[in-house]
Amino acid sequence: MEKIDFENLGFGYHETPYRYVCEYKDGKWGEGKLTEDPNVVLNECACVFQYAQTCFEGMKAYKQVDGKAVIFRPELNAARMSDTCERLMMPPFDKEEFVRACKAVSKANIDYIPPYGTGGSLYLRPYMIGSDPVLGVKPATEYMFRIFGSPVGAYFKGGIVPTQLKISDYDRAAPNGTGHVKAGLNYAMSLYPVMQAHAEGFDENVYLDPQSRTYIEETGGSNIFFITKDGELVTPKSDSILPSITRRSILYVAEHYLDMKVTERKIALTELDDFAEAGLCGTAAVISPVGMISDHGRKIVYGDTVGPITKKLYDTLVGIQLGTIEAPEGWIVDVEK
Ligand SMILES: *Cc1c(COP(=O)(O)O)cnc(C)c1O
Repeated sequence: MEKIDFENLGFGYHETPYRYVCEYKDGKWGEGKLTEDPNVVLNECACVFQYAQTCFEGMKAYKQVDGKAVIFRPELNAARMSDTCERLMMPPFDKEEFVRACKAVSKANIDYIPPYGTGGSLYLRPYMIGSDPVLGVKPATEYMFRIFGSPVGAYFKGGIVPTQLKISDYDRAAPNGTGHVKAGLNYAMSLYPVMQAHAEGFDENVYLDPQSRTYIEETGGSNIFFITKDGELVTPKSDSILPSITRRSILYVAEHYLDMKVTERKIALTELDDFAEAGLCGTAAVISPVGMISDHGRKIVYGDTVGPITKKLYDTLVGIQLGTIEAPEGWIVDVEK
């Protein structure tokens, strides 16, 4: 095995020895297996290439304080991928086999899960593609489901330096629910606005609701939350944002571990000045403090360090993931059991 500098990993692709593959043909999923081949060879007219029939998931495997390798709530990713598949006319993958396959990939690549204390993890990327040739617009009839793992460190460079966001002039998703799928199509449409944001010195965009452009939705790859001046956790309610598992987890943690009030509701762009703290949440971002949001020159500043409640949420969530704080029943899955 090559030497990996687990202390200084960024968020990037790092090839690992084993991946999982399962194929769908003649109306059913076949037998899944681990393989060492990282390449996928497809016909030039495969539905994924022409009509972007593809979706994905993302979760992490960790080494806990006692050395045990675990995955955080993979059955929620399995369920969400089924929902995404339904919207994209793709055949849902068995949820129990999904979890078994995530465990198998983690276990086969166990030496690539960064050790406890490095802050790293093995990012697991399940994805599905329409694989047979389709020229007239219709769903594929053959599919491939795969999972690979890549050791990763922090998503946003600089660790807990608060991110700088801008209110986007673009819609990330159409109002009829495409924001609700975890799929490359949403990311492809975010590349232009995100490169523009970077060129202007921002880390990411905050997208508004596509109907009225007056309510806060989320950023390109993370949900957003706010802390009010009296310590309440508030997060946007919307049908066109991705239902983040990290967000669902921190809502639970805030309520049941930190005794906070939590509210999911529409959040108007005009309210941003009223909040004490802001943060992003997602598997890749974990919980990242937001330092500033720029709304066309109007700057809403939350500070240049992580806020006290955002910090508490981060410490509790990460403590649960790494086994230093007791987890709610069923949140932690041992990859070797
Ligand atoms: C994956 C993703 C998130 C975060 O979801 P988690 O389940 O917490 O990882 C948020 N927004 C978008 C658009 C995403 O694709």
